[in-house]
Amino acid sequence: MQACVPALEAPGRTRRVWFVCDVLGIACAAGTWVLVLGAAGVLLRALLLPARDAAYGVAHGALFHLLAFLALAAHERAMLTDPGSVPLGAAPGGPRCPLCGCARPPRANHCMVCQRCIRKMDHHCPWVNNCVGEDNQKYFLLFTLYTALGSLHLLLLLAVPALRGYARGEWDSHSTLTPRASLVFLLLVALKGFLFASAMFATQMHAICTDRTRIEQLQREGAEQGRGSTWMNVKAVLGHPLSLAWISPFASPQAQRARGPRGVV
Ligand SMILES: [Zn+2]
Ligand SMILES: [Zn+2]
Repeated sequence: MQACVPALEAPGRTRRVWFVCDVLGIACAAGTWVLVLGAAGVLLRALLLPARDAAYGVAHGALFHLLAFLALAAHERAMLTDPGSVPLGAAPGGPRCPLCGCARPPRANHCMVCQRCIRKMDHHCPWVNNCVGEDNQKYFLLFTLYTALGSLHLLLLLAVPALRGYARGEWDSHSTLTPRASLVFLLLVALKGFLFASAMFATQMHAICTDRTRIEQLQREGAEQGRGSTWMNVKAVLGHPLSLAWISPFASPQAQRARGPRGVV
C-alpha cells in the first residue's frame, strides 16, 4: 500500500517536505529525468558538438539545456510540494472523508495513491509522482510548458538540417545527424515529449482559466459557481501580480499571494 510522507511537518508552518512513496510513481518520475538528461547528452554528442558552426552549437546547446533545466526544476517542485493536503483530524463539523477521516472542505477530493484529501485536486500524475492540486499546480503547468518548448526545440533541430539536406538532394548523405540510433532516440523523445506535454499544458490552462479541476469537469461540477474572470483565475494559480515569477519554478505563488494587495487575486 502506498503512503504519503509529509516530513518536517512543523506546527504553524505551511511549507513541508512532501514525498509520495509509490513505486510506480517513483519509477515514472525517475524515467522522466533519465529521458530529459539522456536527450540533453545525446543532443550534445550527436548533433551540436559535431556541428561545423561553433556559434550554432553553443546557442542551441545553451537554449536546450536552459529549457531542460527549467523543466526539471519545475518537475522537482511539483513532486516535492504538498499539493494541498487537508490536515488529518482537522476541525470538527462539516462532511468527513470516510477514507482518511479529515474534515473535507469544499472542492477537496480523496486521492487513493496519496491516501489524503487534496484541495482542488486535479488528478494524480505518476510522471511527477504526486497529485496536482491547489498548491503545486503552477509547478506542474511550468513542467509541461518547458517540456513542450524543449521538445519543440529538439524537433526543429532535427527537422531543419534534414529538410535542408533534402532540399539539396543530400537526404542520405548529410553527416550531422549520424549515428542513426541517436537520431531515432532524439526523435522519439522529442515527439513523445511534445505531444504529451503540449496536450497536458492545454488541459491545465483550460482547467485554470475556467477554475474547474479535471475531476469537476468529469463530474460536471463547478460551472454554476461562477468563480471570477479568467484573469483572476490565472492569477489565483500563478500568483499576484503579473511578473517574471509566473514563469519561474523557483518562485512560490503562495508567497506572491501573501505579498500582494489584500483582497486582490
Ligand atoms: Zn480523504
Ligand atoms: Zn495523489
